[in-house]
Amino acid sequence: MQKFVIMGPPGCGKGTQAKKLCKRFDLTHLSVGDIFRWNIQSHTKLAAKVKRIIDAGHLVGDDIVDEVIRRRLDEHDWNFGFVLDGFPRNLSQANFLLESYNVDKVVVLETPDDVVMERALARRVCGDCGVDFNLIYHRPADPNVCDVCGGKLLARTDDTEVALRKRLADYHGQTEAAVTKFDQKGLTIHIDGTKPIEAVFAEVCGELKLAVM
Ligand SMILES: [Zn+2]
Repeated sequence: MQKFVIMGPPGCGKGTQAKKLCKRFDLTHLSVGDIFRWNIQSHTKLAAKVKRIIDAGHLVGDDIVDEVIRRRLDEHDWNFGFVLDGFPRNLSQANFLLESYNVDKVVVLETPDDVVMERALARRVCGDCGVDFNLIYHRPADPNVCDVCGGKLLARTDDTEVALRKRLADYHGQTEAAVTKFDQKGLTIHIDGTKPIEAVFAEVCGELKLAVM
């Protein structure tokens, strides 16, 4: 069983890499963002609280997030292991994770702020079918229209420049302390996240000693 965590600033490509790892190696992708989005679409009580926090460009409190992670991991649907994406976001959450689960490796995708800004502001999602595009890396034929269904493309609500700068400040002010903690435990693998997706993936697999087939 493999228990991995993938970390890095918003827009470093950790969601993409987590999905590729899970598909290739039969691991379960535990995306904190997806779990919260499911709650929002399902109009849960938790969602209303969380939505107010995220829309203001802030991060959600540790007590809420730890509980969500614990509940999700308690489902035990991760026979071959998991890739945790979007958690931990600070030292307290990192300590919770280290005390509760034996993490095998933590992959950190290093991406400078200017690259993060450029990538993230180019992200679009189809309002109808939910397919993701990027005006730099995965261009639709028309920047406003979904290639798949013809729906209208929207910027994500958390991708405005002001909100993004706040999230980057939170990353440097809070999440890097969690990375340092994992460094001290000898768990981290630092990878250059600015390279093309396939190059980053090959490096991640190599470092995790997973054969690239
Ligand atoms: Zn669409």
